[in-house]
Amino acid sequence: MMNLEGKVALVTGGNGGIGLAMASALADAGATLAIVGRSPDKNAAAVAALARPGAPEPVAIVGDMTDEESVAETLAEVVRRFGGLDILLNNAGSNDRKLPQDYSLAEWNRLISSNLTSAFLVSQAAYPLMVARGGGKIVNIGSLMSVFGSPKSAPYAAAKGGVVQLTKSLATAWAGDNIQVNALLPGWIDTDMTVMAREQVSDLNERVLSRTPAGRWGRPEDLAGAALFLCSGASDFVTGIGLPVDGGYSCSA
Ligand code: NDP
Repeated sequence: MMNLEGKVALVTGGNGGIGLAMASALADAGATLAIVGRSPDKNAAAVAALARPGAPEPVAIVGDMTDEESVAETLAEVVRRFGGLDILLNNAGSNDRKLPQDYSLAEWNRLISSNLTSAFLVSQAAYPLMVARGGGKIVNIGSLMSVFGSPKSAPYAAAKGGVVQLTKSLATAWAGDNIQVNALLPGWIDTDMTVMAREQVSDLNERVLSRTPAGRWGRPEDLAGAALFLCSGASDFVTGIGLPVDGGYSCSA
């Protein structure tokens, strides 16, 4: 059920952190992988890590998923290399932590674009490709801030809340095309993004450890199984959900 041989997957932000861990899980399950990120150096390292014996060479594309033209070029490159697209993981995102009163409009717009508009643009471009294949899987990466507020992440939380609503809307719109659209809501995961968070929020480490029932930070690999489930035939009657992968954080008082 979770065999992805013959399936083509695109992971945005697949060159590091959670994206690379999820891309690796799909590669292990037999999928042909394309990743996209802005950094050529990170792309080069990641694409080497995604190669699997006997599988088609993975491709790493340099692109910015907040830019409509770059999105179109990325999808065109995936089609040129692999002939179509079956699976899309909208994982690209970023945060910049400060109090709401301190964001400029440009910073607000940049974070909404990075975390929400990007998922819309790539999903929209992927839609006709998935229809042409008779169906597909889209997994959007939300956050616990899709659900909870945060004093130092207003634009990020607004965008990630929007990701859940976008997920539900795409799920209802495209169910008849056999495209399942779901979201993963990671808890606190140890990546470059949260290294920066620990620098910007002094007591974050202690708060995460005391509030997470599992008693530890998540690792990028903790997202692998849930991503594989939502990208595979095992979830063919699951659509529109937001699945927390958080060591129990969201069920803890
Ligand atoms: P990283 O910073 O390690 O990864 C972010 C990835 O997104 C990088 O690969 C980056 O590559 C890419 N990226 C960012 N902006 C763009 C863009 N405009 N176009 C293309 N690629 C882009 O962080 P994480 O792995 O932690 O985050 C991955 C996702 O998980 C994000 O959506 C994040 O919000 C979410 N998340 C993370 C949590 C955590 O605790 N770590 C918790 C909840 C959600 P490049 O720089 O090369 O463009």
